[in-house]
Amino acid sequence: MADRIAEEKIEQIRQAVDIVEVISDYVGLKKQGRNYFGLCPFHGESTPSFSVSPDKQIFHCFGCGAGGNVFSFLMELEGISFQEAAMKLAARGNINLEINLSSTHSEKKISDELQAMLDAHELLRKFYHHLLVNTKEGQHALEYLLGRGFTLESIEKFQIGYSLNSWDFVYKFLTKRDFSPEWMEKAGLIIKREKDGTYFDRFRDRIMFPIFNRNGNTIAFSGRTLGADEPKYLNSPETAIFNKSKILYNYNLAKPSIKKSQQAVLFEGFADVISADRAGIENGIATMGTSLTDDHIALLRTSAQTITICYDSDKAGIEAAFRAGNHLNDAGFQIKVALMPDGMDPDEYIKKNSPEKFRGEVIGASLTWMAFKILYFRRGKNLQNEGDRLAYIEQIVKEITKLTKAVEKDHYLRQIAAEFSLSLDSLKQQEQQIYFAEKKKEIGKNEPKSKPILVQKKVNELKPAYYRAERCLIAHMLKSRDNTYKVQELLQGDTFNEDEHQAIITYLLAFYEEHINPDSSAFLSYIHDENLRRIVANIEMMSINDELSHQELTDYIKQVLKHKKLLKIKEKEAELKEAERHSDFRLAAAIGNEINQLRKSL
Ligand SMILES: [Zn+2]
Repeated sequence: MADRIAEEKIEQIRQAVDIVEVISDYVGLKKQGRNYFGLCPFHGESTPSFSVSPDKQIFHCFGCGAGGNVFSFLMELEGISFQEAAMKLAARGNINLEINLSSTHSEKKISDELQAMLDAHELLRKFYHHLLVNTKEGQHALEYLLGRGFTLESIEKFQIGYSLNSWDFVYKFLTKRDFSPEWMEKAGLIIKREKDGTYFDRFRDRIMFPIFNRNGNTIAFSGRTLGADEPKYLNSPETAIFNKSKILYNYNLAKPSIKKSQQAVLFEGFADVISADRAGIENGIATMGTSLTDDHIALLRTSAQTITICYDSDKAGIEAAFRAGNHLNDAGFQIKVALMPDGMDPDEYIKKNSPEKFRGEVIGASLTWMAFKILYFRRGKNLQNEGDRLAYIEQIVKEITKLTKAVEKDHYLRQIAAEFSLSLDSLKQQEQQIYFAEKKKEIGKNEPKSKPILVQKKVNELKPAYYRAERCLIAHMLKSRDNTYKVQELLQGDTFNEDEHQAIITYLLAFYEEHINPDSSAFLSYIHDENLRRIVANIEMMSINDELSHQELTDYIKQVLKHKKLLKIKEKEAELKEAERHSDFRLAAAIGNEINQLRKSL
């Protein structure tokens, strides 16, 4: 992994930066004992199971298993190569790396094909934009956009373009530049004809909206029709570089503003983001036609605490807002919901009213999550009807019990009491009853959904003794070179039962050939396999005794070997049965003897 940057340089970088400081840029960390804890940026959770060890300079998540050192943290979170991570950290630690960007560019782990996909998108984005803004061919499209309220600034900012009304322009444009048609088809830019294997352009005579990844690379397009053609928006298909479940539209441009305010506004579609940006909302983002995924949430967690959901106010929009809100709420975000008047989308609202009104009376006047739910559960109910009314009140009181702040609970209970002329005391009583009933249910469940730490511990407890013994041994081997050699000696050529554990030991032995002292973070850089890296980070976070006594050591080794013997006995027992079935009593007796010997040695 680190072939091109000298080992000493990497060592220097590692010395110069502190993993706690680096991770603090992305995750709120709190010290607890020797380690720091926070909400994991790699999976959605509301209870912190993400830990960082300043002593070992590593991180590990007990919830999803993510783990590694400061380099792997940046690589995974930012989706960048080792070299790029090293450069970022070197800059942070004021270390001169003496490699230029172009050489790291060519060393990126990204394959040639993926790079070609990115290059083709980049080229087309520029070309489409040029066609729209500067040419006669694009003039009608530009006029169309301006007529619909787009400004030249937003056309520039979002790099909007136009694709020619041609069946093979893009095909020719790309193949002339040596892009392989097969890969351009895989990139979703051209389509292969079934009957004769020739290609045609996917996007023709459409307004082109480029879709960027978080690093600002163009990875897909959405093409909007100028007329009545269907579909109104034609999107790139999912490709090796475009994964809808990971992409938030405009995140690359919005990130600084989101980080600064710790707030993001989530819109239903990317067109809403562009309209809202015109009204001065710069922290707008949208999913690409999918509902919110855990990957989206993990991305948002690195920059925001509060999410304002601003979806269309039609039935589908309200339902979608409710789902997104629940998902975000479970993940620990503060949620607000901005409601637009009946059936309008942001674009219509801004046109009909004004950007100021949109900022002030829609976004600025957004409801708390609880206030939204009070409206949400009211829909479709006839509150004049006593049955409906009681069901509704119970539903709302149930929601109120989920609030964590007493002041909030009190506020909404009063609101309900006033609206339905109920006694506040009896509502409070009802709230308490539901609260304790829910608590009881939770205690009954053995795996609460929001507590990954507990779940993970359970998993470990179920593992057999040898598994734990192997992990404890590895934990001690990671801490001491002496222990490593002692374990090797006692094993006398035998190996650990878990392949992954044995693989870690193989890496560790090689590491100690080159390094005199143990070093958790350096060792993690040494392992190329991500899964093994995660396991090592997990083992590093185990609590073990400082010293490994001879008794403890031999006990663990015994457990490891015992499992092997038990397997052997099982094998022999099957052979014994087979021998008996064939009435080969001499062989059966011999095998029986072997089994007895093995049993004795346990
Ligand atoms: Zn995690």
